[in-house]
Amino acid sequence: MKVLNLACSHQHLFEGWFASEDDFVSQCRRGLVQCPVCADPAVVKKLSAPRLNLSGAREPQAAGQEAALPASPSAPVRMGEVEAALAAAWMAVARHVVANTTDVGSEFAEEARKMHYGEAEVRNIRGHTTSEQARELVEEGIEVMPLLLPEALKGPLQ
Ligand SMILES: [Zn+2]
Repeated sequence: MKVLNLACSHQHLFEGWFASEDDFVSQCRRGLVQCPVCADPAVVKKLSAPRLNLSGAREPQAAGQEAALPASPSAPVRMGEVEAALAAAWMAVARHVVANTTDVGSEFAEEARKMHYGEAEVRNIRGHTTSEQARELVEEGIEVMPLLLPEALKGPLQ
């Protein structure tokens, strides 16, 4: 699954999910990719410069930073605080999602599709899909959001 940053000719920015970049090109040629704001089929892929720059340059930098950490005593502590804050924020988001959605498990793709086509009452659901199922939902114009729930929240709520 590839998440691409896309833009239409009116500069609306949006994300598209595709099996691969070739898949994106092929869908574009057939006019299947449209701007969700104005339905413009003239969609181009935006290059995300910061991400691109990082991918190549990261390895040697990361190694250098690791070596430098012991000389800077405050750094490891600050890293830990940031990680703890992120984990806490993430747990809060996950709890909110769990509290406000119905778990339909492996029926997710089917349920999402039923709601989309008016065959079931529209409600917030969560569950799991294969990447293939998720891609099919996106292709049908059904909104899905990938979310990795912490293991602790997967079981029945206390
Ligand atoms: Zn647009």
